[in-house]
Amino acid sequence: MNFTFISLFPEIIRSALNESITKRAIENSLISFETINPRNYLEAKERIDDKVYGGGPGMLLKSEPLMKALDDAISRFERSKSKIIYLSPKGKPFNQETAEALASEKNIIFICGRYEGIDQRIIDHYVDVEISIGDYVVSGGEIPALVVFDAISRNIDGVLGDEASLEQESFSRGLLEYPQYTRPEKMKLGEVPKELLSGNHAVIEKWRKKQMLGITSLRRKDLLEKTELSSEEKALLKEFIDEHEG
Ligand code: SAM
Repeated sequence: MNFTFISLFPEIIRSALNESITKRAIENSLISFETINPRNYLEAKERIDDKVYGGGPGMLLKSEPLMKALDDAISRFERSKSKIIYLSPKGKPFNQETAEALASEKNIIFICGRYEGIDQRIIDHYVDVEISIGDYVVSGGEIPALVVFDAISRNIDGVLGDEASLEQESFSRGLLEYPQYTRPEKMKLGEVPKELLSGNHAVIEKWRKKQMLGITSLRRKDLLEKTELSSEEKALLKEFIDEHEG
């Protein structure tokens, strides 16, 4: 799968992708990426920002160089095989479901906004989906694009060494993950729950499921409401609540 980042600050992208899981995925040809800088399409002495019609504070990313960058990005793949995403606080809130769905695309083109954003006509003409990483404003689209890229790439076959780790993660079944512990078994901060030391797979699974249900209920009732619980899960949740209220 290929990712193209249209950005005025390609170093932010390159430095982030050159580490850890992503670096290995690129070396193993599971993913590829390129950056395209709209500044490369400017005439001599031309500025990359432009005034907003109607006045008001701030500038927009200039349209002509951005369109040329987009046309170049699109020309490398068939348009129908490319998904163009504009990162924007006005976009659809990003979540695990969208990350998983986007992992089956062939080519994703991210437009990383700067200043006050980009001309609406570019959004209307080119963009397939606007995505927001949350209800706050950051200074540019690079970090949001990296967040979206990272969440997608974890769902591409082979990118994570151990596929099982995906199934256990938060949101994988609409629930938050259970607490985890590593050595030592006992320390000043406390002891590892006895169920995890039991060596009994069924006991461990039951404890983990109970924690997932309980923690999701305490922290994210909205997620729990969307998840259909079996009668066994309802009983586990009740046990968790009773233990925590008791
Ligand atoms: N004027 C814009 C608004 O109020 O919606 C905010 C512009 S912001 C300073 C500059 C760029 O950062 C945006 O064009 C967008 O690409 C990116 N950005 C900022 N916050 C974001 C968010 N929550 N999700 C996705 N992208 C965001």
